[in-house]
Amino acid sequence: MSRRLFIGLMGAAAVVALTGPAVAQNYPTKPITMIVPFAAGGPTDALARVIGQKMSEKLGQQIVVDNAAGAGGTIGVAKAARGAPDGYTVLFTHMGTLAVNIALYKSLPYDSQKDLVPVGLAGTNPMVLVTKKGFPAKDFKEFKDYVAANQKKVQYGMAGIGAASHLGGLMLNSMMKVEVLEIPYKGTGPALNDLVAGQFDYMVDQAVNVLAQIQAGNIKPLGVSTKKRLAQLPDVPTIDESGLPGYEVTIWNGLFAPKGTPEAIVTKLNAVLGEVLADEAVRKRLMDLAVDLPTKEEATPAALGAQLKASIDKWVPAVKAAGVQPE
Ligand code: ASP
Repeated sequence: MSRRLFIGLMGAAAVVALTGPAVAQNYPTKPITMIVPFAAGGPTDALARVIGQKMSEKLGQQIVVDNAAGAGGTIGVAKAARGAPDGYTVLFTHMGTLAVNIALYKSLPYDSQKDLVPVGLAGTNPMVLVTKKGFPAKDFKEFKDYVAANQKKVQYGMAGIGAASHLGGLMLNSMMKVEVLEIPYKGTGPALNDLVAGQFDYMVDQAVNVLAQIQAGNIKPLGVSTKKRLAQLPDVPTIDESGLPGYEVTIWNGLFAPKGTPEAIVTKLNAVLGEVLADEAVRKRLMDLAVDLPTKEEATPAALGAQLKASIDKWVPAVKAAGVQPE
């Protein structure tokens, strides 16, 4: 190697060494936009706001939530994937939008593994099958029989193709061998309002969103989506134990950034997310909402990347096997 080239390379290395940490040291110097691909008031939005608020206190800059909702979350994810990779656009989303919908759309406007970089896991959520208050079933068995006998008139709600509530509902319906009309919303926040008002019959949604309305007696919980019952709903059996063995759907949420976001910024955001999830008040709030918080090993950007891949490997074939045709 010539002396000049060697010195040139040294110079380049020094520049890289200076820009990486230097960028992160000053970052952030202005508000950060956190894209949430579902409507305000739903579970993804609620978790983003609890976590975003605390992250913003620690970062000393505002985090502005942008509810870019629609098309099962694909509109918001596409917006984030096209965002400037400078640390001022981040995405708070769930595995439905990044993994499940690969099986559900003929063509997606992004590649979740190539166009985004993982920042950190924010927790895993159980789901609950809830019906409107007046639904004529008092337990899962009666629910299943009623839906089977009334497929033409029963309606279930979900937050669009590829949403968590779609995955929960489509696996349920496929295992119950029923076909019912689906009512799409821009998020399960607005869907829940309509379920409380009795405008459709049932949905499967994250516990985060439905616990308060269950506790208020405004909707009926007929089964939980995990293999174990939830501490918050000890009297509600699992769907698995109630007559659909093998039914299990949990939804992880995570923070991502557009591909090309400097590694030093990703590392900083991951560290701040970790601090927020270690905060006693935040932990309590999230655990009360049945969110399973990540361990240290699960909390790294690489672990979230691996989690995403594992979810794609698990759910894409499972959804295809359920016989749902891509849109
Ligand atoms: N998490 C919900 C779903 O995917 C959507 C939402 O957050 O509103 O069904």
